[in-house]
Amino acid sequence: MEIVFAASECAPWAKTGGLADVVSALPKTLVKMGHKVSVFLPYYRQVAKLAPNAPVVLPSVTVPFPSYNRFVRILDGGAAEGVKMYFVDCPELFDRESFYATPSGDYPDNAERFGLLSRAIIEATKVLGVPDVYHVHDWQTAMLAVMLRSVYYFDPVLRHIPAVLTIHNAGYQGAFPPQTMEKLLLPWEMFTFDKLEQNDTLNFLKGGIVYADAITTVSRTYAEEIKTAEFGNGLEGTLQRRSGDLFGILNGVDYEEWDPSVDPHIAAHYSAEKLEGKKECRRDLLHAFGFGGIGEQTAVIGVVSRFATQKGFDFIVDIIDRLAQEDVVLVMLGNGEEYYERLLMEVAERFPAKVRVQVKFDNVLAHKIEAGSDMFLMPSRYEPGGLNQIYSLRYGTVPIVRATGGLEDTIDEQPNGGGNGFKFRGYDSEALLEAIRRALAAFRNKDEWTAMMRRGMVEDFSWNKPAAEYVKVYERVIQNRS
Ligand code: ADP
Repeated sequence: MEIVFAASECAPWAKTGGLADVVSALPKTLVKMGHKVSVFLPYYRQVAKLAPNAPVVLPSVTVPFPSYNRFVRILDGGAAEGVKMYFVDCPELFDRESFYATPSGDYPDNAERFGLLSRAIIEATKVLGVPDVYHVHDWQTAMLAVMLRSVYYFDPVLRHIPAVLTIHNAGYQGAFPPQTMEKLLLPWEMFTFDKLEQNDTLNFLKGGIVYADAITTVSRTYAEEIKTAEFGNGLEGTLQRRSGDLFGILNGVDYEEWDPSVDPHIAAHYSAEKLEGKKECRRDLLHAFGFGGIGEQTAVIGVVSRFATQKGFDFIVDIIDRLAQEDVVLVMLGNGEEYYERLLMEVAERFPAKVRVQVKFDNVLAHKIEAGSDMFLMPSRYEPGGLNQIYSLRYGTVPIVRATGGLEDTIDEQPNGGGNGFKFRGYDSEALLEAIRRALAAFRNKDEWTAMMRRGMVEDFSWNKPAAEYVKVYERVIQNRS
């Protein structure tokens, strides 16, 4: 089967979160299973730095707008592990400081940027080869599914080609003023509540949900949650209507990238059978955060996260005074919204002996935190899939999580200490503090703790099973359209 991935992120080229990891790892697994996969990604400034001389495959693809055309180039990004990479080169839209936004807000022309991306990918594939199925991701490429079934409706080579939309996060929908319809040359009759309109805006994600042949999201629990008002962010009704075509497929992990027995970014290698190296990683991590004299009895709690409301930092801030009285240190890595960057820096200034924060995106440090921490904290308000808790399991870093989405599906707390982590429910910072205290109590019992670490480390969250589930979804939509 031939699959085209259309996405706004793909590791290692362009990454802000889990989307990039999925778009990198799932295609590799599909190729191993015998499928042919190509990935289309914008030629952002950051991508151009990594691939400055990418050869031109198509020198000019025309993307029309109401009173002008844009002309984009398609570049050859090579093939890593059999996955063909293509870059969509449009410097006036993608050669920028960031992917989507500056710390003070979104780029004002994001609708044009990602509308163009979808159209350029459709046009490029008409020349390079139309796949059996398009797999689009989040609002940024959801329009591809809309365009296939509207402005490309009569195209004889696309008519029977289905699109699958994966929702990595329903909190980001791509909502734009109504006039964007005209800007993207979409017919006004689609600007209705059952199609593209939501609260008098053009909602890209909604369009994808309505027009894709199937919708997947990144855990079973999140697939249920987004059908409710609490998690659907206004799209719950639309998702309920598509519930027969909505599937929850838990994200896998790329163990070539995230495994402490081979990880090139960490101070020492270790595994479930040979744990010694983790101590060296812990020392190295504490050093990276400038901590000295921290004994083995002190629990090192790690955080790696986008700084956004979703991630539940307000719960941590609520309890920080009391947490600081415990025998713990907190090491945090993240960036994103300015508000949280400032808030967490302030917390670190208040508790210099307990809390250290590094505000940046740093993949190597993320690996060091996974390896060197004793516990990993993810108190997310919602978490579609969540990857860090699964990485943590493999690194013997016991997760403390809020029971939502993929966190609920992967972390199991047992009353007798027999699970793989600690979990709290409700929007309740007290419950978080209690969960951390339960973890600290378990940490004091070294045998119990080591057994829990080992249980997590041997669990298998590789991509094989989820990739097979995606193939089933592809087969289903191809069949339905043939
Ligand atoms: P989300 O996609 O909501 O950001 P996930 O847990 O699914 O959350 O995936 C986050 C991914 O991004 C992980 O691979 C994590 O290591 C990485 N990440 C997030 N923030 C940073 C950062 N500041 N530096 C390095 N890696 C980060």
